[in-house]
Amino acid sequence: MSNPQLNETQLKQAHRLIAKVRKWIETLAKNNPEAIFAFRRKIYKELMYDERSKPMERKRLKDKMWKKQNGICPLCRQRLPEKGAVLDRIKAIGGYKEGNVRLICASCDGKVQEERGYK
Ligand SMILES: [Zn+2]
Repeated sequence: MSNPQLNETQLKQAHRLIAKVRKWIETLAKNNPEAIFAFRRKIYKELMYDERSKPMERKRLKDKMWKKQNGICPLCRQRLPEKGAVLDRIKAIGGYKEGNVRLICASCDGKVQEERGYK
């Protein structure tokens, strides 16, 4: 299952938007390197949350999935580790929502990522 991709026009629009945002950051930060860093980091974080949800929401979902799966990895049927279990989205575009995720062990996550061509 591949993620949606931008077409050529949208890709050009995205590059123009990024260029504008960079210029805007420089203006707002008045070329202060520390402010540029902080603006970039804030914008990066908020856009990442739009796609991945906030860490607390993912943590809550992780706990819920742990209970729902009785602490078992649905792929290898082994006990999930106390730390390091991974919330895997069935479809990335579906987000971190209960019907679209499963909690899997790191080893199975590595295999899944490889199958999807991410590694
Ligand atoms: Zn597993």
